[in-house]
Amino acid sequence: MAIRHDHWIDGRHTPPEGRAWLPTLDPATGKPGDEIAAGSPADVARAVVAAENARHAWAHRSPAERAAVLHRIADAVEADAETLMELERACTGKVLAQLRLEVETSAAYFRYYAGVVRAAGQGQVIEQGAGVHTYTRYEPYGVVGVITPWNLPLNQACRALAPALAMGNAVVIKPSEFTSVSTLRLAGLAAEAGLPAGVLNVITGTGPEAGEALAAHPGIRRLAFTGSVATGRYLAGVAGGRLLPLTLELGGKSPLVVFADADLDGAVAAAVTALTANSGQVCSATTRLLVEESVHDEVVDRVVTAVAGLRPGVDFGPLITEAQYRKVLDLLADAPVPPATGGGPYEEGSAARGLYVRPTVFARVDPDAPVAREEVFGPVLVTVPFEDEDGALELANDTEYGLVAAVWSGDLARGLRLAERIEAGQVAVNGGPLTVETPFGGYKRSGYGREKGLAALHEYAQLKTVSATLR
Ligand code: ADP
Repeated sequence: MAIRHDHWIDGRHTPPEGRAWLPTLDPATGKPGDEIAAGSPADVARAVVAAENARHAWAHRSPAERAAVLHRIADAVEADAETLMELERACTGKVLAQLRLEVETSAAYFRYYAGVVRAAGQGQVIEQGAGVHTYTRYEPYGVVGVITPWNLPLNQACRALAPALAMGNAVVIKPSEFTSVSTLRLAGLAAEAGLPAGVLNVITGTGPEAGEALAAHPGIRRLAFTGSVATGRYLAGVAGGRLLPLTLELGGKSPLVVFADADLDGAVAAAVTALTANSGQVCSATTRLLVEESVHDEVVDRVVTAVAGLRPGVDFGPLITEAQYRKVLDLLADAPVPPATGGGPYEEGSAARGLYVRPTVFARVDPDAPVAREEVFGPVLVTVPFEDEDGALELANDTEYGLVAAVWSGDLARGLRLAERIEAGQVAVNGGPLTVETPFGGYKRSGYGREKGLAALHEYAQLKTVSATLR
């Protein structure tokens, strides 16, 4: 039986004013899922009023008091992991290991920012000589709007919410209409954990209805958006008109550069992970495999062999939305070379009933082909050979995006040389870990502003200077 979910406003479930709900789908089976409230501008306005009423009291609490609540939210997320995983699975079809990782990381954001805000949430004293006392302080913006996509729903909600709440903001969040339920559940858990009513509000619904109303609402003082370049561009225009500070975390077409002297086992495993982790529906997926010519064919063969053994529904999930499934299949159909493996949907078995796409590798692709330039957001890898370090760098930077890059080389100095010259917000050399502590965000068309790490804490605060003469 499908459950009907209302908004979460001012600490309680609140039906939409328009009394309309939207259907959702289980992409692994094609069966209908729960219904979510179809949010309208009127619903957004109610949520902003609730946040506005709650924000001062929350901001006036000490960092230690806010941190205590954040720790309890992390506890609650961990204790509720099985339910959160099931809610997420039902609308995304994600596999177990991916679900577990995402819920663990979601809790980790609250733990991390609970600690960080106590150590780094304060300003500094500026010495200007005797008779003067000058200092800076970080102050919250007030009501922050957050808009999240469908690929990592709970995870991306927590990535923005934890620093925003830690810094003393109140939030209205609009999750993707395809994957809203885990964010609603989180809001209920946060309330039970002691987050005051109105500090976190969830409005569900479509981008054009609820999302646009949120971005346009005059009570919103800052916006954080993760999603497509097209919507990011639209929101940048809205924010520009209102002089609204904005974080944009958009797409990527990230390179994975492999030199002949690299640990090829590690590099091949990284390439396979780029295909399988959330079935490539990750903005940071390194799906442009650039390989030194002398080992190119060997690396491709090893990736193809590894991919052949992957099982749909066990090792990787389906595409999460019907539109994304169609988009990926269209890109596959237009590829300029035949696939080395994969290349389409499943024709039989249970995977044929869901939105599964075979993990696909296109080898030796023209770097100007659409499949090599556009973000596919699916389990599709393209490979391009290179001759030397300069050639590798040129290919790595030959993209409008700049979110992440990976470099594999037995020569660490060369790895770090490339890391400094690649235009991307994060570069992992030889599998260096990128975690909640490491700032994340785009160069070029991948967006601006930073999520994660200490940098994100200060994204959700404005810096004030106070100077007094002591006379
Ligand atoms: P995708 O194409 O991957 O679904 P979108 O950018 O369309 O990515 O969606 C990301 C988030 O942005 C979702 O929550 C969606 O509802 C929201 N969104 C889409 N269009 C708009 C819009 N015009 N204004 C505000 N939010 C929007």
